[in-house]
Amino acid sequence: MAQILDGKQLAQTMQAEIALKVDNFFARHGYRPGLAAVLVGDNAASQVYVRNKRTACDKVGITSSLHQLPTATAQDELLHLIAHLNTDPQVSGILVQLPLPKHMDESVIIDAVAPMKDVDGFGPVSLGLLMTGNPRFLPCTPLGVQQILVRNGIGIDGQHVVIVGRSNIVGKPLALMLMQKANGANATVTVCHSRSRDIGAITRQADIIVVAIGQARFLTKDMVRPGAVVVDVGINRTPDGKLVGDVDFDGVKEIASAITPVPGGIGPMTITMLLHNTLQAAILQHE
Ligand code: NAP
Repeated sequence: MAQILDGKQLAQTMQAEIALKVDNFFARHGYRPGLAAVLVGDNAASQVYVRNKRTACDKVGITSSLHQLPTATAQDELLHLIAHLNTDPQVSGILVQLPLPKHMDESVIIDAVAPMKDVDGFGPVSLGLLMTGNPRFLPCTPLGVQQILVRNGIGIDGQHVVIVGRSNIVGKPLALMLMQKANGANATVTVCHSRSRDIGAITRQADIIVVAIGQARFLTKDMVRPGAVVVDVGINRTPDGKLVGDVDFDGVKEIASAITPVPGGIGPMTITMLLHNTLQAAILQHE
């Protein structure tokens, strides 16, 4: 039976570490790192995500502000707000909660966030620095995946990691991170997506499988080599209202050596990495 990689517990441990560092920052500078959250529209899930992120900020002593705009907000108005936050010295990091309303161009908005405040790590400068092997802000979900492995003593060096999903916020940056010539990386990485053929044949070759596609219980036991480590990034709501991941947890846990649960796996790690990045942003801007 697999070891359960408890993201909730690890997130608490790491948040306590971050809180200490935030206190040290406050002692040195007399003010606290600050996160500005921007929420456009009334997407219920986005509201919950932003609330959870702000609650986590409170817990570690990071100040947070919420800038809530109606769905019909013009793109220029949002760009104007971001320009203001870019120059506000109280704001260390800016989080623009996605998705944005359909009339906005997400890439234009993401590009507008000052690179030194890009705590989501989605901007072209952050991703370019990662690509060239000199990362500044790493995207929070991939960083959470890497940390849950590293902090549980699961070796990545030389391992074959198969990532299912190639989105700009999870699969693609995770592949770049894990193939870096660096500690907690040095993996051989394969990336699968919706056009990949016979994904099971590929995942069966993996030492570590990460699934991030948004398809409930996609990865089944027969797609996993006995003893592999399985990380489930997916968050899906079943018709009966249950929250499940992209992995068939009950089946896969019988043969994997370690597995992350949903909920309580990568979700809390993602929020914690946002706190980490916000503290890093404050340090970079002021030290
Ligand atoms: P996304 O932007 O929709 O991308 C999904 C990716 O999965 C795409 O690359 C797509 O392939 C691939 N895909 C979809 N169906 C597939 C299939 N049947 N077989 C193989 N590949 C398939 O999704 P995302 O934003 O990366 O999110 C993925 C999941 O992670 C979602 O459930 C999301 O809610 C969750 N998530 C969780 C967290 C967290 O904090 N825990 C954070 C972010 C996302 P193509 O590129 O070919 O279309």
